[in-house]
Amino acid sequence: MLYSAVAKCYADLEGMSGRKEITAVLAGLLKATPVAELPSLVYMTQGKLRPDYEGVELGLAEKLALRALAGASGAEPARVYSSYVKHGDIGAAAEELLTDRSQGTLFSEALTLRRVYETLLRVARQSGSGSVEAKLRELASLLNDASPLEARYVMRTVAGELRLGVADYTVLDAAATAFLGGKEARPRIERAYNVHPDLGFVVAAVASRGIAGVDDVKVEVGVPIRPMLAERLSSAQAIIEKMEGKVVAAEYKLDGERLQIHRSGDDVKLFSRRLEVVTSHYPDAADLVRAHVSARNAILEAEVVAIDEDTGEYLPFQELMHRRRKHGIQQAIADYPVALNFFDILLAGSSDLTGKPYSFRRKKLRQTVEETSRTRPVPALSTSDPGELEKFMEDAITDGCEGLVVKDPDSSYRAGAREFAWIKLKREYRSELTDTLDLVVIGAFHGRGRRAGTFGTFLLGTYDTKRGVYASVAKVGTGFSDEDLAKFPRLLEPYESHVRPPGVESKMVPDVWFRPHLVIEIIAAELTLSPIHTAAMGSVRPEAGISLRFPKFTGKVRDDKRPEDSTSVDEIVGMYRRQVKRVE
Ligand code: ATP
Repeated sequence: MLYSAVAKCYADLEGMSGRKEITAVLAGLLKATPVAELPSLVYMTQGKLRPDYEGVELGLAEKLALRALAGASGAEPARVYSSYVKHGDIGAAAEELLTDRSQGTLFSEALTLRRVYETLLRVARQSGSGSVEAKLRELASLLNDASPLEARYVMRTVAGELRLGVADYTVLDAAATAFLGGKEARPRIERAYNVHPDLGFVVAAVASRGIAGVDDVKVEVGVPIRPMLAERLSSAQAIIEKMEGKVVAAEYKLDGERLQIHRSGDDVKLFSRRLEVVTSHYPDAADLVRAHVSARNAILEAEVVAIDEDTGEYLPFQELMHRRRKHGIQQAIADYPVALNFFDILLAGSSDLTGKPYSFRRKKLRQTVEETSRTRPVPALSTSDPGELEKFMEDAITDGCEGLVVKDPDSSYRAGAREFAWIKLKREYRSELTDTLDLVVIGAFHGRGRRAGTFGTFLLGTYDTKRGVYASVAKVGTGFSDEDLAKFPRLLEPYESHVRPPGVESKMVPDVWFRPHLVIEIIAAELTLSPIHTAAMGSVRPEAGISLRFPKFTGKVRDDKRPEDSTSVDEIVGMYRRQVKRVE
Protein backbone atom coordinates (compact mmCIF):
# COMPACT_ATOMS: atom_id res chain seq x y z
CA MET A 1 0.00 0.00 0.00
CA LEU A 2 1.45 3.36 -1.00
CA TYR A 3 1.45 6.06 1.64
CA SER A 4 0.46 8.58 -1.03
CA ALA A 5 -2.97 6.90 -1.26
CA VAL A 6 -3.34 7.13 2.50
CA ALA A 7 -2.25 10.79 2.55
CA LYS A 8 -4.69 11.62 -0.24
CA CYS A 9 -7.49 10.04 1.74
CA TYR A 10 -6.49 11.96 4.88
CA ALA A 11 -6.65 15.17 2.87
CA ASP A 12 -10.19 14.25 1.75
CA LEU A 13 -11.22 13.45 5.31
CA GLU A 14 -9.93 16.76 6.55
CA GLY A 15 -12.36 18.68 4.43
CA MET A 16 -15.35 16.74 5.73
CA SER A 17 -17.47 17.18 8.80
CA GLY A 18 -20.44 14.87 8.27
CA ARG A 19 -20.00 11.53 9.95
CA LYS A 20 -21.73 9.66 7.09
CA GLU A 21 -19.35 11.08 4.54
CA ILE A 22 -16.31 10.36 6.72
CA THR A 23 -17.47 6.79 7.27
CA ALA A 24 -17.89 6.20 3.53
CA VAL A 25 -14.42 7.52 2.68
CA LEU A 26 -12.87 5.51 5.48
CA ALA A 27 -14.70 2.36 4.38
CA GLY A 28 -13.21 2.84 0.91
CA LEU A 29 -9.72 3.13 2.38
CA LEU A 30 -10.17 0.01 4.53
CA LYS A 31 -11.30 -1.96 1.49
CA ALA A 32 -8.32 -0.84 -0.55
CA THR A 33 -5.86 -1.95 2.15
CA PRO A 34 -4.45 -5.50 2.25
CA VAL A 35 -5.61 -7.32 5.41
CA ALA A 36 -2.06 -7.68 6.73
CA GLU A 37 -1.65 -3.90 6.69
CA LEU A 38 -5.06 -3.06 8.13
CA PRO A 39 -3.98 -2.90 11.77
CA SER A 40 -1.21 -0.40 11.05
CA LEU A 41 -3.50 1.67 8.83
CA VAL A 42 -6.17 1.78 11.53
CA TYR A 43 -3.76 2.81 14.28
CA MET A 44 -2.19 5.49 12.09
CA THR A 45 -5.52 6.94 11.03
CA GLN A 46 -6.13 7.66 14.69
CA GLY A 47 -2.66 9.13 15.10
CA LYS A 48 -1.45 6.08 17.03
CA LEU A 49 0.90 3.17 16.47
CA ARG A 50 -0.48 0.49 18.76
CA PRO A 51 -3.60 0.08 20.88
CA ASP A 52 -3.58 2.51 23.80
CA TYR A 53 -3.08 -0.18 26.41
CA GLU A 54 0.38 -1.00 25.06
CA GLY A 55 1.55 2.51 25.92
CA VAL A 56 3.53 3.22 22.72
CA GLU A 57 3.55 7.01 22.50
CA LEU A 58 4.59 9.22 19.63
CA GLY A 59 3.97 12.87 20.53
CA LEU A 60 7.44 14.22 19.79
CA ALA A 61 7.86 17.49 21.73
CA GLU A 62 7.47 20.67 19.68
CA LYS A 63 11.18 21.53 19.87
CA LEU A 64 12.29 18.18 18.47
CA ALA A 65 9.64 18.12 15.76
CA LEU A 66 10.88 21.51 14.55
CA ARG A 67 14.48 20.26 14.57
CA ALA A 68 13.52 17.22 12.53
CA LEU A 69 11.81 19.45 10.02
CA ALA A 70 14.79 21.78 9.75
CA GLY A 71 17.05 18.78 9.19
CA ALA A 72 14.88 17.28 6.48
CA SER A 73 14.01 20.45 4.61
CA GLY A 74 17.42 22.07 4.82
CA ALA A 75 15.70 25.31 5.86
CA GLU A 76 17.16 27.58 8.55
CA PRO A 77 15.65 26.99 12.01
CA ALA A 78 14.30 30.58 12.02
CA ARG A 79 12.50 29.95 8.72
CA VAL A 80 11.04 26.67 10.06
CA TYR A 81 9.81 28.41 13.18
CA SER A 82 8.20 31.29 11.31
CA SER A 83 6.44 28.90 8.92
CA TYR A 84 5.17 26.92 11.93
CA VAL A 85 3.86 30.00 13.72
CA LYS A 86 2.33 31.36 10.50
CA HIS A 87 0.35 28.19 9.88
CA GLY A 88 -0.16 27.21 13.51
CA ASP A 89 0.36 23.64 12.39
CA ILE A 90 3.52 21.57 12.06
CA GLY A 91 2.02 19.62 9.14
CA ALA A 92 1.30 22.70 7.05
CA ALA A 93 4.81 24.00 7.81
CA ALA A 94 6.31 20.70 6.64
CA GLU A 95 4.26 20.84 3.46
CA GLU A 96 5.39 24.38 2.71
CA LEU A 97 9.06 23.76 3.43
CA LEU A 98 9.14 20.57 1.43
CA THR A 99 7.43 22.24 -1.50
CA ASP A 100 10.30 24.74 -1.52
CA ARG A 101 12.84 21.93 -1.32
CA SER A 102 11.22 19.71 -3.95
CA GLN A 103 12.03 22.19 -6.70
CA GLY A 104 15.56 20.80 -6.57
CA THR A 105 14.86 17.08 -6.10
CA LEU A 106 14.66 14.85 -9.11
CA PHE A 107 13.14 11.65 -7.86
CA SER A 108 12.90 9.67 -4.70
CA GLU A 109 11.70 6.28 -3.60
CA ALA A 110 7.91 6.08 -3.19
CA LEU A 111 6.90 5.81 0.46
CA THR A 112 4.90 2.78 1.49
CA LEU A 113 2.50 2.59 4.41
CA ARG A 114 4.66 -0.17 5.83
CA ARG A 115 7.81 1.93 5.77
CA VAL A 116 6.15 4.94 7.37
CA TYR A 117 4.60 2.76 10.06
CA GLU A 118 7.74 0.83 10.86
CA THR A 119 9.88 3.96 10.97
CA LEU A 120 7.47 5.73 13.30
CA LEU A 121 7.33 2.68 15.53
CA ARG A 122 11.12 2.68 15.80
CA VAL A 123 11.08 6.41 16.55
CA ALA A 124 8.54 5.89 19.33
CA ARG A 125 10.41 2.98 20.86
CA GLN A 126 13.88 4.50 20.89
CA SER A 127 14.93 5.70 24.31
CA GLY A 128 18.06 6.29 26.31
CA SER A 129 21.27 8.01 25.38
CA GLY A 130 21.69 8.94 21.75
CA SER A 131 18.02 8.29 21.06
CA VAL A 132 17.22 11.88 20.12
CA GLU A 133 19.80 11.87 17.34
CA ALA A 134 18.63 8.45 16.18
CA LYS A 135 15.02 9.63 16.05
CA LEU A 136 15.97 12.70 14.04
CA ARG A 137 17.94 10.58 11.56
CA GLU A 138 15.02 8.19 11.05
CA LEU A 139 12.62 11.06 10.47
CA ALA A 140 14.95 12.89 8.14
CA SER A 141 15.30 9.81 5.96
CA LEU A 142 11.51 9.39 5.84
CA LEU A 143 10.90 13.03 4.99
CA ASN A 144 13.56 12.87 2.32
CA ASP A 145 11.39 10.52 0.32
CA ALA A 146 8.11 12.22 1.20
CA SER A 147 6.07 14.43 -1.09
CA PRO A 148 4.88 17.69 0.51
CA LEU A 149 1.42 16.22 1.14
CA GLU A 150 2.90 13.07 2.69
CA ALA A 151 5.16 15.23 4.86
CA ARG A 152 2.12 17.07 6.17
CA TYR A 153 0.70 13.87 7.64
CA VAL A 154 3.98 12.31 8.71
CA MET A 155 4.83 15.41 10.75
CA ARG A 156 1.39 15.69 12.28
CA THR A 157 1.50 12.03 13.25
CA VAL A 158 4.95 12.38 14.75
CA ALA A 159 3.92 15.40 16.78
CA GLY A 160 0.79 13.61 18.01
CA GLU A 161 -1.40 16.11 16.17
CA LEU A 162 -3.07 14.11 13.46
CA ARG A 163 -6.60 15.00 14.30
CA LEU A 164 -8.72 13.64 11.51
CA GLY A 165 -11.81 13.46 13.68
CA VAL A 166 -12.02 9.71 13.20
CA ALA A 167 -13.39 8.40 16.49
CA ASP A 168 -13.21 4.72 17.46
CA TYR A 169 -16.88 4.29 16.67
CA THR A 170 -16.47 5.78 13.21
CA VAL A 171 -13.82 3.18 12.44
CA LEU A 172 -16.19 0.43 13.61
CA ASP A 173 -18.95 1.87 11.39
CA ALA A 174 -16.57 1.99 8.45
CA ALA A 175 -15.49 -1.63 9.03
CA ALA A 176 -19.14 -2.70 9.11
CA THR A 177 -19.81 -0.83 5.86
CA ALA A 178 -16.69 -2.11 4.14
CA PHE A 179 -16.79 -5.77 5.06
CA LEU A 180 -20.30 -6.62 6.23
CA GLY A 181 -22.26 -4.51 3.82
CA GLY A 182 -24.09 -2.43 6.41
CA LYS A 183 -24.62 -1.51 9.99
CA GLU A 184 -26.82 -4.39 11.24
CA ALA A 185 -23.82 -6.17 12.65
CA ARG A 186 -22.59 -3.01 14.36
CA PRO A 187 -23.52 -3.94 17.97
CA ARG A 188 -21.63 -7.20 17.59
CA ILE A 189 -18.53 -5.41 16.34
CA GLU A 190 -18.85 -2.98 19.20
CA ARG A 191 -19.02 -5.80 21.72
CA ALA A 192 -15.83 -7.26 20.28
CA TYR A 193 -14.11 -3.88 20.57
CA ASN A 194 -15.30 -3.29 24.14
CA VAL A 195 -13.87 -6.58 25.39
CA HIS A 196 -10.75 -6.38 23.22
CA PRO A 197 -10.07 -2.68 22.67
CA ASP A 198 -7.56 -3.05 19.89
CA LEU A 199 -9.18 -1.44 16.85
CA GLY A 200 -6.54 -2.78 14.46
CA PHE A 201 -7.15 -6.31 15.67
CA VAL A 202 -10.95 -6.02 15.50
CA VAL A 203 -10.98 -4.49 12.01
CA ALA A 204 -8.60 -7.18 10.75
CA ALA A 205 -10.87 -9.83 12.29
CA VAL A 206 -13.90 -8.41 10.44
CA ALA A 207 -11.97 -8.12 7.18
CA SER A 208 -10.57 -11.63 7.23
CA ARG A 209 -13.47 -13.65 8.66
CA GLY A 210 -16.54 -11.46 8.59
CA ILE A 211 -19.07 -11.66 11.40
CA ALA A 212 -17.71 -15.02 12.57
CA GLY A 213 -14.37 -13.34 13.17
CA VAL A 214 -16.11 -10.71 15.29
CA ASP A 215 -18.11 -13.18 17.35
CA ASP A 216 -14.96 -15.16 18.07
CA VAL A 217 -13.32 -12.22 19.82
CA LYS A 218 -13.26 -13.27 23.45
CA VAL A 219 -12.43 -11.85 26.82
CA GLU A 220 -8.80 -12.78 27.29
CA VAL A 221 -6.44 -12.62 30.24
CA GLY A 222 -3.80 -10.03 29.37
CA VAL A 223 -6.05 -7.88 27.17
CA PRO A 224 -7.83 -5.19 29.21
CA ILE A 225 -11.59 -4.78 28.92
CA ARG A 226 -13.06 -1.29 28.55
CA PRO A 227 -14.42 -0.42 31.97
CA MET A 228 -18.11 -0.18 32.78
CA LEU A 229 -18.91 3.32 34.08
CA ALA A 230 -21.54 4.85 36.30
CA GLU A 231 -24.17 7.51 35.70
CA ARG A 232 -25.00 9.91 38.51
CA LEU A 233 -28.21 10.86 40.32
CA SER A 234 -28.62 13.24 43.21
CA SER A 235 -30.68 11.28 45.74
CA ALA A 236 -31.38 7.80 47.04
CA GLN A 237 -35.05 8.33 46.17
CA ALA A 238 -34.23 9.14 42.54
CA ILE A 239 -32.04 6.06 42.28
CA ILE A 240 -34.69 3.68 43.60
CA GLU A 241 -37.22 5.24 41.21
CA LYS A 242 -34.82 4.87 38.28
CA MET A 243 -34.35 1.20 39.18
CA GLU A 244 -38.15 0.80 39.23
CA GLY A 245 -38.37 -0.02 42.92
CA LYS A 246 -36.39 -3.23 42.73
CA VAL A 247 -33.95 -4.44 45.35
CA VAL A 248 -30.65 -2.86 44.34
CA ALA A 249 -27.09 -3.56 45.38
CA ALA A 250 -25.41 -0.55 46.94
CA GLU A 251 -21.65 -0.68 47.27
CA TYR A 252 -19.18 1.60 48.97
CA LYS A 253 -17.56 3.97 46.47
CA LEU A 254 -13.97 4.02 47.59
CA ASP A 255 -11.70 6.90 46.81
CA GLY A 256 -8.71 5.14 45.35
CA GLU A 257 -7.55 3.98 41.96
CA ARG A 258 -9.43 1.52 39.81
CA LEU A 259 -7.46 -1.59 38.93
CA GLN A 260 -8.36 -4.23 36.41
CA ILE A 261 -6.48 -7.29 37.53
CA HIS A 262 -5.47 -10.01 35.08
CA ARG A 263 -4.12 -13.19 36.57
CA SER A 264 -2.69 -16.18 34.77
CA GLY A 265 -1.14 -18.48 37.35
CA ASP A 266 1.52 -16.50 39.19
CA ASP A 267 1.61 -13.88 36.50
CA VAL A 268 -0.43 -10.86 37.60
CA LYS A 269 -0.88 -7.75 35.47
CA LEU A 270 -2.63 -4.59 36.66
CA PHE A 271 -4.33 -2.12 34.32
CA SER A 272 -5.47 1.37 35.26
CA ARG A 273 -8.85 2.90 34.42
CA ARG A 274 -7.34 4.17 31.17
CA LEU A 275 -6.06 0.67 30.53
CA GLU A 276 -2.39 1.37 31.01
CA VAL A 277 -0.19 -1.21 32.70
CA VAL A 278 0.49 -0.05 36.28
CA THR A 279 1.81 -3.28 37.79
CA SER A 280 5.07 -1.59 38.75
CA HIS A 281 3.21 0.88 41.01
CA TYR A 282 1.63 -1.89 43.04
CA PRO A 283 3.82 -5.01 43.24
CA ASP A 284 2.38 -5.60 46.72
CA ALA A 285 -1.16 -5.60 45.30
CA ALA A 286 -0.08 -8.25 42.79
CA ASP A 287 1.22 -10.32 45.75
CA LEU A 288 -2.11 -9.90 47.54
CA VAL A 289 -3.86 -11.29 44.45
CA ARG A 290 -1.52 -14.31 44.34
CA ALA A 291 -2.11 -14.99 48.02
CA HIS A 292 -5.82 -14.27 48.47
CA VAL A 293 -7.62 -14.89 45.17
CA SER A 294 -8.51 -18.53 44.72
CA ALA A 295 -8.94 -18.50 40.92
CA ARG A 296 -5.63 -19.10 39.14
CA ASN A 297 -6.95 -17.69 35.92
CA ALA A 298 -9.10 -14.60 36.39
CA ILE A 299 -9.97 -11.02 35.55
CA LEU A 300 -11.16 -8.96 38.50
CA GLU A 301 -11.81 -5.32 39.27
CA ALA A 302 -10.87 -3.63 42.50
CA GLU A 303 -10.36 -0.20 43.93
CA VAL A 304 -6.90 0.02 45.46
CA VAL A 305 -6.88 2.34 48.46
CA ALA A 306 -4.14 3.64 50.72
CA ILE A 307 -4.72 2.62 54.33
CA ASP A 308 -3.48 3.48 57.77
CA GLU A 309 -1.82 0.23 58.75
CA ASP A 310 -2.52 0.59 62.47
CA THR A 311 -6.20 1.43 62.30
CA GLY A 312 -7.08 -0.04 58.90
CA GLU A 313 -8.73 3.27 57.94
CA TYR A 314 -8.87 4.42 54.35
CA LEU A 315 -6.68 7.37 53.44
CA PRO A 316 -7.39 9.95 50.71
CA PHE A 317 -6.59 9.25 47.07
CA GLN A 318 -3.59 11.63 47.12
CA GLU A 319 -1.63 9.14 49.24
CA LEU A 320 -1.55 6.78 46.27
CA MET A 321 0.42 9.34 44.30
CA HIS A 322 3.51 8.27 46.22
CA ARG A 323 3.27 5.02 44.28
CA ARG A 324 3.85 6.76 40.96
CA ARG A 325 7.58 6.99 41.35
CA LYS A 326 10.05 4.98 39.30
CA HIS A 327 12.69 4.61 41.98
CA GLY A 328 12.36 3.70 45.61
CA ILE A 329 9.11 1.81 45.13
CA GLN A 330 10.03 -0.62 47.96
CA GLN A 331 10.20 2.31 50.36
CA ALA A 332 6.88 3.66 49.07
CA ILE A 333 5.29 0.24 49.64
CA ALA A 334 6.45 0.30 53.25
CA ASP A 335 5.41 3.93 53.83
CA TYR A 336 2.09 3.85 52.01
CA PRO A 337 0.46 0.44 52.36
CA VAL A 338 -2.65 -0.35 50.33
CA ALA A 339 -5.70 -2.59 50.46
CA LEU A 340 -7.68 -4.11 47.60
CA ASN A 341 -11.46 -3.75 47.59
CA PHE A 342 -12.79 -6.04 44.89
CA PHE A 343 -16.00 -5.04 43.18
CA ASP A 344 -16.29 -7.26 40.12
CA ILE A 345 -15.16 -10.48 38.51
CA LEU A 346 -15.21 -10.71 34.71
CA LEU A 347 -13.53 -14.03 34.08
CA ALA A 348 -12.89 -17.05 36.27
CA GLY A 349 -11.09 -20.17 35.05
CA SER A 350 -12.17 -20.34 31.44
CA SER A 351 -15.63 -18.79 31.95
CA ASP A 352 -16.37 -15.35 30.60
CA LEU A 353 -18.66 -13.83 33.26
CA THR A 354 -19.34 -10.49 31.55
CA GLY A 355 -22.70 -11.73 30.23
CA LYS A 356 -23.85 -12.93 33.68
CA PRO A 357 -25.96 -10.70 35.95
CA TYR A 358 -24.34 -8.66 38.71
CA SER A 359 -25.89 -10.88 41.43
CA PHE A 360 -24.16 -13.93 39.95
CA ARG A 361 -20.83 -12.14 39.64
CA ARG A 362 -21.02 -10.81 43.18
CA LYS A 363 -21.61 -14.33 44.53
CA LYS A 364 -18.66 -15.61 42.52
CA LEU A 365 -16.55 -12.72 43.79
CA ARG A 366 -17.30 -13.63 47.39
CA GLN A 367 -16.29 -17.22 46.72
CA THR A 368 -13.07 -16.16 45.01
CA VAL A 369 -11.68 -13.38 47.21
CA GLU A 370 -10.52 -14.19 50.70
CA GLU A 371 -11.45 -11.61 53.30
CA THR A 372 -8.32 -10.34 55.05
CA SER A 373 -7.16 -7.00 56.46
CA ARG A 374 -5.87 -6.15 52.96
CA THR A 375 -8.34 -7.87 50.63
CA ARG A 376 -12.10 -8.09 50.57
CA PRO A 377 -15.14 -7.83 48.37
CA VAL A 378 -16.28 -4.22 48.72
CA PRO A 379 -18.99 -3.74 51.42
CA ALA A 380 -22.45 -3.95 49.87
CA LEU A 381 -26.07 -3.74 50.92
CA SER A 382 -29.21 -5.03 49.18
CA THR A 383 -32.25 -2.86 49.63
CA SER A 384 -35.18 -1.22 47.88
CA ASP A 385 -35.71 1.36 50.62
CA PRO A 386 -34.39 4.88 49.97
CA GLY A 387 -34.08 5.47 53.74
CA GLU A 388 -31.79 2.47 54.14
CA LEU A 389 -29.80 3.60 51.17
CA GLU A 390 -29.34 7.03 52.76
CA LYS A 391 -28.21 5.42 55.97
CA PHE A 392 -25.70 3.22 54.12
CA MET A 393 -24.42 6.33 52.36
CA GLU A 394 -23.77 7.94 55.78
CA ASP A 395 -21.86 4.82 56.86
CA ALA A 396 -19.79 4.91 53.68
CA ILE A 397 -18.86 8.54 54.24
CA THR A 398 -18.04 7.94 57.90
CA ASP A 399 -15.75 5.14 56.74
CA GLY A 400 -13.85 7.52 54.46
CA CYS A 401 -15.59 6.75 51.15
CA GLU A 402 -16.87 9.18 48.52
CA GLY A 403 -20.37 7.73 48.60
CA LEU A 404 -22.03 4.76 46.94
CA VAL A 405 -22.23 3.06 43.60
CA VAL A 406 -25.70 1.55 43.29
CA LYS A 407 -25.92 -1.39 40.92
CA ASP A 408 -28.75 -3.11 39.09
CA PRO A 409 -28.52 -6.75 40.23
CA ASP A 410 -29.82 -8.01 36.88
CA SER A 411 -27.35 -6.16 34.69
CA SER A 412 -24.55 -7.83 32.79
CA TYR A 413 -21.10 -6.18 32.72
CA ARG A 414 -21.58 -3.50 30.07
CA ALA A 415 -17.99 -2.97 28.97
CA GLY A 416 -17.27 0.59 27.86
CA ALA A 417 -20.73 1.92 28.68
CA ARG A 418 -21.84 4.70 31.03
CA GLU A 419 -25.43 3.75 31.82
CA PHE A 420 -27.92 3.66 34.66
CA ALA A 421 -27.08 0.03 35.51
CA TRP A 422 -24.50 1.63 37.82
CA ILE A 423 -25.42 4.90 39.49
CA LYS A 424 -23.13 6.88 41.73
CA LEU A 425 -24.34 8.87 44.67
CA LYS A 426 -21.94 11.28 46.33
CA ARG A 427 -22.24 13.63 49.23
CA GLU A 428 -21.53 16.71 47.11
CA TYR A 429 -24.64 16.09 45.03
CA ARG A 430 -26.81 17.05 47.96
CA SER A 431 -25.27 20.39 48.66
CA GLU A 432 -25.26 23.43 46.39
CA LEU A 433 -22.13 22.14 44.79
CA THR A 434 -22.12 20.28 41.56
CA ASP A 435 -20.12 17.09 41.17
CA THR A 436 -16.40 17.38 40.62
CA LEU A 437 -15.32 17.68 37.01
CA ASP A 438 -12.23 16.23 35.39
CA LEU A 439 -10.87 18.89 33.02
CA VAL A 440 -7.95 19.13 30.64
CA VAL A 441 -5.25 21.78 30.99
CA ILE A 442 -5.06 23.56 27.62
CA GLY A 443 -3.16 26.69 28.63
CA ALA A 444 -1.60 28.68 31.44
CA PHE A 445 -0.99 32.27 32.45
CA HIS A 446 2.21 33.45 34.11
CA GLY A 447 1.89 34.17 37.80
CA ARG A 448 2.43 37.45 39.58
CA GLY A 449 3.45 38.32 43.12
CA ARG A 450 4.02 35.17 45.11
CA ARG A 451 3.54 33.13 41.98
CA ALA A 452 6.00 35.05 39.82
CA GLY A 453 8.24 32.74 37.84
CA THR A 454 5.67 29.98 37.66
CA PHE A 455 2.15 29.62 36.34
CA GLY A 456 -0.53 31.44 38.32
CA THR A 457 -3.70 30.27 36.58
CA PHE A 458 -4.63 27.55 34.14
CA LEU A 459 -7.05 27.45 31.25
CA LEU A 460 -9.15 24.31 31.24
CA GLY A 461 -10.99 22.51 28.51
CA THR A 462 -13.61 19.82 28.21
CA TYR A 463 -13.92 17.18 25.51
CA ASP A 464 -16.62 17.55 22.91
CA THR A 465 -17.06 13.89 21.98
CA LYS A 466 -19.22 14.60 18.94
CA ARG A 467 -16.77 16.97 17.29
CA GLY A 468 -13.55 15.56 18.73
CA VAL A 469 -12.35 18.95 20.02
CA TYR A 470 -11.46 20.45 23.40
CA ALA A 471 -13.43 23.57 24.27
CA SER A 472 -12.46 26.04 26.98
CA VAL A 473 -14.65 25.91 30.08
CA ALA A 474 -12.87 27.76 32.89
CA LYS A 475 -9.82 29.50 34.20
CA VAL A 476 -8.66 28.27 37.57
CA GLY A 477 -6.14 29.71 40.01
CA THR A 478 -7.21 28.47 43.43
CA GLY A 479 -6.66 25.21 45.27
CA PHE A 480 -3.03 24.82 44.17
CA SER A 481 -0.47 24.17 46.89
CA ASP A 482 3.08 25.47 46.50
CA GLU A 483 4.06 21.90 45.75
CA ASP A 484 1.48 21.73 42.94
CA LEU A 485 2.69 25.00 41.47
CA ALA A 486 6.25 23.74 41.47
CA LYS A 487 5.22 20.44 39.90
CA PHE A 488 2.83 21.61 37.16
CA PRO A 489 5.35 23.25 34.81
CA ARG A 490 7.33 19.98 34.83
CA LEU A 491 4.23 17.89 34.12
CA LEU A 492 3.14 20.18 31.32
CA GLU A 493 6.42 20.97 29.63
CA PRO A 494 6.40 18.12 27.09
CA TYR A 495 3.03 19.35 25.80
CA GLU A 496 3.87 23.03 25.49
CA SER A 497 2.99 24.61 22.16
CA HIS A 498 3.76 28.01 20.70
CA VAL A 499 0.56 27.96 18.72
CA ARG A 500 -3.00 27.08 19.67
CA PRO A 501 -2.92 23.28 19.29
CA PRO A 502 -5.17 21.83 16.61
CA GLY A 503 -8.43 20.62 18.09
CA VAL A 504 -8.41 23.20 20.89
CA GLU A 505 -11.13 25.86 20.86
CA SER A 506 -10.79 28.95 22.99
CA LYS A 507 -11.53 32.63 22.68
CA MET A 508 -9.24 33.29 25.60
CA VAL A 509 -5.56 33.32 24.70
CA PRO A 510 -3.25 32.08 27.47
CA ASP A 511 0.46 32.91 27.77
CA VAL A 512 1.31 29.31 26.99
CA TRP A 513 -0.76 26.69 25.17
CA PHE A 514 -0.61 22.99 25.93
CA ARG A 515 -1.59 20.04 23.81
CA PRO A 516 -4.44 18.30 25.67
CA HIS A 517 -2.87 15.79 28.01
CA LEU A 518 -3.04 16.60 31.71
CA VAL A 519 -6.40 16.00 33.42
CA ILE A 520 -7.11 17.58 36.81
CA GLU A 521 -10.09 17.45 39.14
CA ILE A 522 -12.03 20.64 39.74
CA ILE A 523 -14.88 21.52 42.08
CA ALA A 524 -17.03 24.58 41.50
CA ALA A 525 -19.88 26.43 43.16
CA GLU A 526 -22.09 26.13 40.09
CA LEU A 527 -22.24 26.13 36.35
CA THR A 528 -23.00 29.40 34.61
CA LEU A 529 -23.57 30.63 31.08
CA SER A 530 -20.61 32.46 29.62
CA PRO A 531 -19.98 34.48 26.48
CA ILE A 532 -16.24 33.80 26.79
CA HIS A 533 -15.94 30.07 27.14
CA THR A 534 -16.68 27.88 24.16
CA ALA A 535 -17.83 24.67 25.89
CA ALA A 536 -21.38 23.78 24.79
CA MET A 537 -21.53 27.01 22.81
CA GLY A 538 -25.09 27.69 21.74
CA SER A 539 -26.54 24.54 23.22
CA VAL A 540 -28.38 26.28 26.05
CA ARG A 541 -28.50 29.83 24.74
CA PRO A 542 -27.26 31.30 21.46
CA GLU A 543 -23.80 32.87 21.67
CA ALA A 544 -23.23 31.46 25.16
CA GLY A 545 -21.13 28.60 26.38
CA ILE A 546 -21.06 27.01 29.82
CA SER A 547 -18.48 27.86 32.44
CA LEU A 548 -17.76 27.29 36.13
CA ARG A 549 -18.31 29.72 38.98
CA PHE A 550 -15.56 29.70 41.62
CA PRO A 551 -13.65 26.76 40.22
CA LYS A 552 -11.06 25.24 42.53
CA PHE A 553 -8.46 22.51 42.06
CA THR A 554 -9.18 19.63 44.46
CA GLY A 555 -5.55 18.51 44.57
CA LYS A 556 -6.17 15.48 42.37
CA VAL A 557 -4.24 15.03 39.16
CA ARG A 558 -6.28 12.45 37.28
CA ASP A 559 -3.48 10.65 35.53
CA ASP A 560 -5.74 7.61 35.43
CA LYS A 561 -7.77 9.45 32.79
CA ARG A 562 -6.89 10.20 29.19
CA PRO A 563 -7.93 13.65 27.95
CA GLU A 564 -10.72 11.97 25.97
CA ASP A 565 -12.02 10.58 29.29
CA SER A 566 -12.39 14.03 30.84
CA THR A 567 -15.87 15.25 31.74
CA SER A 568 -17.51 15.68 28.35
CA VAL A 569 -19.43 18.66 27.00
CA ASP A 570 -22.59 16.50 27.01
CA GLU A 571 -22.11 15.67 30.69
CA ILE A 572 -21.64 19.36 31.48
CA VAL A 573 -24.82 20.27 29.63
CA GLY A 574 -26.59 17.53 31.64
CA MET A 575 -25.22 18.93 34.91
CA TYR A 576 -26.29 22.44 33.94
CA ARG A 577 -29.83 21.32 33.16
CA ARG A 578 -30.10 19.41 36.45
CA GLN A 579 -28.85 22.47 38.31
CA VAL A 580 -31.45 24.70 36.67
CA LYS A 581 -34.15 22.21 37.64
CA ARG A 582 -32.99 22.23 41.27
CA VAL A 583 -33.17 25.99 41.45
CA GLU A 584 -36.61 26.27 39.85
P1 ATP B 1 -15.26 9.55 39.42
O1 ATP B 1 -14.55 10.81 39.08
O2 ATP B 1 -16.51 9.77 40.19
O3 ATP B 1 -14.39 8.47 39.99
P2 ATP B 1 -15.07 8.29 36.94
O4 ATP B 1 -15.43 8.99 35.69
O5 ATP B 1 -13.66 8.04 37.26
O6 ATP B 1 -15.79 9.07 38.08
P3 ATP B 1 -17.28 6.65 37.20
O7 ATP B 1 -17.69 5.53 36.35
O8 ATP B 1 -18.07 7.87 37.08
O9 ATP B 1 -15.77 6.91 36.92
O10 ATP B 1 -17.31 6.19 38.71
C1 ATP B 1 -16.91 4.91 38.96
C2 ATP B 1 -15.53 4.91 39.54
O11 ATP B 1 -15.63 4.79 40.94
C3 ATP B 1 -14.79 3.69 39.08
O12 ATP B 1 -14.00 3.99 37.97
C4 ATP B 1 -13.96 3.26 40.26
O13 ATP B 1 -12.66 3.79 40.17
C5 ATP B 1 -14.62 3.92 41.44
N1 ATP B 1 -15.25 2.96 42.38
C6 ATP B 1 -15.08 2.95 43.69
N2 ATP B 1 -15.81 2.01 44.30
C7 ATP B 1 -16.48 1.37 43.32
C8 ATP B 1 -17.42 0.30 43.31
N3 ATP B 1 -17.82 -0.30 44.43
N4 ATP B 1 -17.91 -0.08 42.12
C9 ATP B 1 -17.53 0.53 40.97
N5 ATP B 1 -16.65 1.54 40.93
C10 ATP B 1 -16.13 1.97 42.09
